Amino acid sequence: MAVIDLPSPNHAARQAPVDVLVLHYTELPLEESLRVLRDDRREHRVSAHYVLAEDGAIYRLVPEDRVAWHAGRSHWRGRDALNGTSIGIEIVNLHGDRHDYPDEQIAALIELCRDIAGRHPAIVPRNVVGHSDIAPKRKVDPGLRFPWARLAASGVGLWPRAGAKPVEGDIQAALQAFGYPPAAEVTTADIVAAFQRRFRSAQEDGIADPETRALLADLLQQVDARCE
Ligand SMILES: [Zn+2]
Repeated sequence: MAVIDLPSPNHAARQAPVDVLVLHYTELPLEESLRVLRDDRREHRVSAHYVLAEDGAIYRLVPEDRVAWHAGRSHWRGRDALNGTSIGIEIVNLHGDRHDYPDEQIAALIELCRDIAGRHPAIVPRNVVGHSDIAPKRKVDPGLRFPWARLAASGVGLWPRAGAKPVEGDIQAALQAFGYPPAAEVTTADIVAAFQRRFRSAQEDGIADPETRALLADLLQQVDARCE
């Protein structure tokens, strides 16, 4: 796996071990993304550990043992401010709801994610997340067209199987049990919509119908079986 080093000045010291991998789309073309993520004169400086071009080329901007600034306000599995404990990959795509991700880009992404998880075993499949999972409503990347099922088939992240018995009762509690944030800054409907954006892209209405509840039930069974 060839990696092109293109250092960004936007990083900080790590205070805690890495156990989350966050996937983003850039919303900008490659050259502009590399410029913005390496610019230290912006009011809100941003960066990521890696940028992944459409042709599969991998750029390393921040070393994994430093904190990059990609997640912002965020929450997963009871923890806030995930920059401190995560690695961030920015995938070049102008809008993942509208533009497909090229095959060669996804093949390179899978290789990169497996490589990263190999160095950080605490990044269990459950902790491979989209920006939209950890910042519901505020963020929508990597988008409805992101091929999560294909990644999961390669051991990167999770994907629900059909046919589970739907979760009953408090959907918010069940979403939080999987990792989603509490309904504080956003509503439970926003969080259901974020879940659907990731796992049920055909219906993104924020309504916890039986199908949505069944997918969540299967994911909870998977993490339980894996003792994650
Ligand atoms: Zn993002």
